[in-house]
Amino acid sequence: MNTGAEAVETALKMVRRWGVEKKGIENGKQEIVVAAENFHGRTISIVSFSTDPDARVNYGPYTPGFVIVPYNDAAAIEKAVTPNTCAVMIEPIQGEAGVYVPDEGYLKAVREICTRRKVLFIADEIQTGFCRTGRKFAVDHEGVRPDAMTLGKALGGGLFPVSAVVADHDVMGVFTPGTHGSTFGGNPLASAIAIAAMDVLDDEKLADNARVMGEHFRAEVAKARCPKMVKVRGKGLLNAVVFEKGFEAWNVCLALRDAGVLAKQTHGNIIRFAPPLVITRDDMTDALSRIIRVLEAVK
Ligand code: PLP
Repeated sequence: MNTGAEAVETALKMVRRWGVEKKGIENGKQEIVVAAENFHGRTISIVSFSTDPDARVNYGPYTPGFVIVPYNDAAAIEKAVTPNTCAVMIEPIQGEAGVYVPDEGYLKAVREICTRRKVLFIADEIQTGFCRTGRKFAVDHEGVRPDAMTLGKALGGGLFPVSAVVADHDVMGVFTPGTHGSTFGGNPLASAIAIAAMDVLDDEKLADNARVMGEHFRAEVAKARCPKMVKVRGKGLLNAVVFEKGFEAWNVCLALRDAGVLAKQTHGNIIRFAPPLVITRDDMTDALSRIIRVLEAVK
C-alpha cells in the first residue's frame, strides 16, 4: 500500500477475513484486541480504537469490533480474548505514546497467548521496523515471530510513500484477486525504492549503527544536569527524554530547534528523539552537545 495507516487497515481486513474463513467466527462478530495509548494511523477505523482525544474526538460514528486493554499487560490480553477474537495488534514499542518500552517478556507472552488461543498476533512495526531500534525489527529483541507485521516509513527510505503487510500464506491468502487493492499500492517505482532501501539498511549495517549510537545517546543525555528530567528511555535510535509530570516540553523543543536540533514533543512532558539511522559519531557528538546545553538551561 502507500501509507502506514493503509497497511494497518489492510492487516485489519486480513485478520477479520481470516477470523471468518479460518477460525469460523460469524461475519460481523470479529473482535480485535488493541492497546491503550496506541498509535496506528488516522483513518476512521483506526481512530475508532485510539485513546488519544486529539486523534479521535468528533470523528464518530466509530467502527466497532475493537477491545482496548492496557499496554504492557499480557494478563489483560488473556482476559480480553473471546471465541470471536481474531487478532491482537500492538506496537512492540509505543512510539507516538512517548517511546514506551514494554517490560522484557511482554512480546513473548503475547505470542504465547495468541498461539494457545488461536488468535493472530499483528506487530505494528511501522515506526520500530527496519533497524530503528537496533535490530531489524523490534520483535527480534525477544526473538518473537508475529503472524503479521505492518511496515512503512523507512520502507520507502524515509522519502517515498510505500507500506506493506507481511504474513504467511495461510493468513495472507484470504485475499483473493479483487478483494483488496489500491491504485498506487505496490507501484513499480515504490517497489524499486523499497527494495533499494532494504538493501541500504543491510549493506550499511544500520541496525548496528542504531544500537551503538542509541546507547551513546542515552548514556550521555542521562548525565545532563537537568532537575526537570526524570529519565531517558528507548532502544536503538528511538528514544525519549521524559520530564516530570505537568512539565510543558514544548518550549524545550523550540530551544532545541534554535540550537539546530529537531525533536518532537509527545504527551506534554516527553520529547522524542529519532535521528537518521545513518547518523555518524561526529554528528551525534555535535547533536549531543547542543541537546545537553539546552537541557541544562531548562528552568
Ligand atoms: N503505525 C505506527 C506505529 C506509527 O508510528 C504510524 C505513524 O507514525 C502509523 C502506523 C501510521 O503511518 P502513516 O502516518 O504513514 O499513515
